[in-house]
Amino acid sequence: MSELAYPYEAPASQALFDRAAAVTPGGVNSPVRAFRAVGGTPRFMVSGSGPYLTDADGREYVDLVCSWGPMILGHAHPEVIAAVQEAVARGTSFGTPAEGEVALAEAMVERVAPLEEVRLVSSGTEATMSAIRLARGFTRRTKVIKFAGCYHGHVDSLLAAAGSGVATFALPDTPGVTGAQASDTIVLPYNDLEAVHAAFAAHPGEIACVITEASPGNMGVVPPLPGFNQGLKDACAANGALFVSDEVMTGFRTSRAGWYGVEGVVPDLMTFGKVMGGGFPAAAFGGRADVMAHLAPAGPVYQAGTLSGNPVATAAGLAQLRLLDDAAYEKVDAVSAQIQGLVTEALAKEGVAHTLQTASNMFSVFFTDRPVRNYEDAKAQESFRFTAFFHSLLSHGVYLPPSSFESWFVSTAHDERAVQRIADALPAAARAAAEATA
Ligand code: PLP
Repeated sequence: MSELAYPYEAPASQALFDRAAAVTPGGVNSPVRAFRAVGGTPRFMVSGSGPYLTDADGREYVDLVCSWGPMILGHAHPEVIAAVQEAVARGTSFGTPAEGEVALAEAMVERVAPLEEVRLVSSGTEATMSAIRLARGFTRRTKVIKFAGCYHGHVDSLLAAAGSGVATFALPDTPGVTGAQASDTIVLPYNDLEAVHAAFAAHPGEIACVITEASPGNMGVVPPLPGFNQGLKDACAANGALFVSDEVMTGFRTSRAGWYGVEGVVPDLMTFGKVMGGGFPAAAFGGRADVMAHLAPAGPVYQAGTLSGNPVATAAGLAQLRLLDDAAYEKVDAVSAQIQGLVTEALAKEGVAHTLQTASNMFSVFFTDRPVRNYEDAKAQESFRFTAFFHSLLSHGVYLPPSSFESWFVSTAHDERAVQRIADALPAAARAAAEATA
């Protein structure tokens, strides 16, 4: 297929984008959706079914974003929809405890051994914000170590990603975050245990926790080097700090027990979102019972939410987790491997320097021939090639994340027809990447 399947213009999406821009900053409710990194008209989607999304112009795309991870069973899975419809019919929010939230917490605890207790919230941002507050309340310390390129939601103190070298205090990365908020955050290069040891040595008794993406997917996919997460855990244990593993992206996706299920490193606290909400706003943090006991009303660290444990969201999440058995993960892993193979084959054929990195079924392509170990490596790629690659695929009905710093996601619904669509689209996209100029 060398002809464009779809013309480049997307008039219905553009009209909606223009309307949106009049009432919403930048025309979107989350920045990456605006296509600023790749240019062009963001596609406004009207429906999703299995591995496909359909936009306002009536064009169908194979979806390799899957709502940034949650839709691991594909869009509008009949059993998830049935569970949601059943829950909605019983009422949409009670503001009281309800059985669904207990059942979802039990399902999570059953799958993830270090998760002794769980508190449900509504977004991954809330989960990491609350976990950090709890770590500070528990240790009675203020400082937090995070890694450059790891995203933990838009928590003020965790948006600090600037600074380089050992124990550099971060500058706020965005207006609106105060120097005081950023100054308690120590930003270190990912996969660098020496830097972590040096930071602990420079700040004895001050560091409340180390937070890391269990396996980062927010600078593209950059898995931890062997021993890195265990090294973090050991450094925390030796220094009286907590090890917080952010599994918002990897949780219940990279295996039945998330990245913990892949690597087996036991965190003190963990955060979750995405898959556990089945496409609804549900997220969670949890971990050691003695730490969680410090949370209100059991303990003094305050945390609350009007819609926390929402009955519709918990019904969706529970239905999705129940469907995610070993066979489902085998299927996602297999289709992911198949697509990875097609991508490398097409790029290699056109002589495009690239590195495809994986974390079980999560993967992304960096336009560089060097391994990517941290954010600096990721930024050194030739992103202009991604832009050409992205637009060619989009024009052939394949929807990639609109940035070269994001993971690609697949689902159990990505079947042979969907894979064939990708296979047909890749040669032209690889050629576009090869011909692209900075
Ligand atoms: N943590 C990680 C690892 C994430 O990938 C994200 C979102 O992409 C978040 C936290 C924030 O989650 P949310 O967007 O639900 O606030």
